[in-house]
Amino acid sequence: MAPPDFPRGLAEFQAWFASDEACRHYLMACRWPEGFRCPACGDAGSYLLSARNLLQCRACRRQTSITAGTVLDRTRLPLPLWFAAAYLVTTHTPGFSALQLQRQLGLARYETAWTMLHKLRRAMVRPERDRLSGTVELDETYVGGVEEGRRGGRQRDSKKVIVAGAVEVRGHGSGRIRLMVVPDLSAATFTRFAEAAITPGTTVLTDGWPSFRGLSGSYQHRPTVIGDPKNAAKQLPRVHRAFANLKTWLLGTHHGVGAKHLPHYVDEFVFRFNRRRTPMAAFQSLLGLTTRHAPTTYQMLYAAEPTG
Ligand SMILES: [Zn+2]
Repeated sequence: MAPPDFPRGLAEFQAWFASDEACRHYLMACRWPEGFRCPACGDAGSYLLSARNLLQCRACRRQTSITAGTVLDRTRLPLPLWFAAAYLVTTHTPGFSALQLQRQLGLARYETAWTMLHKLRRAMVRPERDRLSGTVELDETYVGGVEEGRRGGRQRDSKKVIVAGAVEVRGHGSGRIRLMVVPDLSAATFTRFAEAAITPGTTVLTDGWPSFRGLSGSYQHRPTVIGDPKNAAKQLPRVHRAFANLKTWLLGTHHGVGAKHLPHYVDEFVFRFNRRRTPMAAFQSLLGLTTRHAPTTYQMLYAAEPTG
């Protein structure tokens, strides 16, 4: 049987990535799945300068960093520690605190844990680049404050924040999602959100709110008049499920979040949701190993050619 793509627990994970050498091997397999070639002269021969995480070309002696562009770049900490931290942050669906990380990794200093966590979480708050496609449900919700009176009373509670959402329809389930904090319910705002989140030409399902009419320019817009707002969840079940999950997560994990920090948490929620079935991809994104390739699996790692 093939080895699993992702370890089943921290102990198994740590066995995979027990040494700096194993972590370096993994980094190289992720970055150069076809094997390393010198970017200067194209030669395939190289040797590793371990202490500095550099590959040196045998032909022209050009040095290439194996950690450039990742959170591991110029780190003084052992690579297995970083790998374990990224694993913990990936696998704990609710957020992970610096104190928990310090305890789990046995770190002497809280500040080290805090800095690591901060760097890893930064990867989750980068806006997603690929836009949704196929058929997409689009709607908005209020986060914080009172739930009732959707688009009703205009006397908006200042603590309420509007979140626009779009979810791909995948059979009865959901594909990828995009969520964004937006300033108002205007047509210009929803058009801007759609342009950032959804590929032009996509079929977009909404309710009959007039501000969605602007979507018909770039999209196959399919509005449905819902009437009673209580039916919205039935007509657009996926986007409403995403909103409900977001609110549960915010309340359960973060005990509610102030308006100021909400955009970052929304981005983290989207990151986690979109990678819920691909933990190895999430793990690699956190380390900064985002490539155009599919995630590098354990199997691929051990099939990779040794350099030199
Ligand atoms: Zn070279």
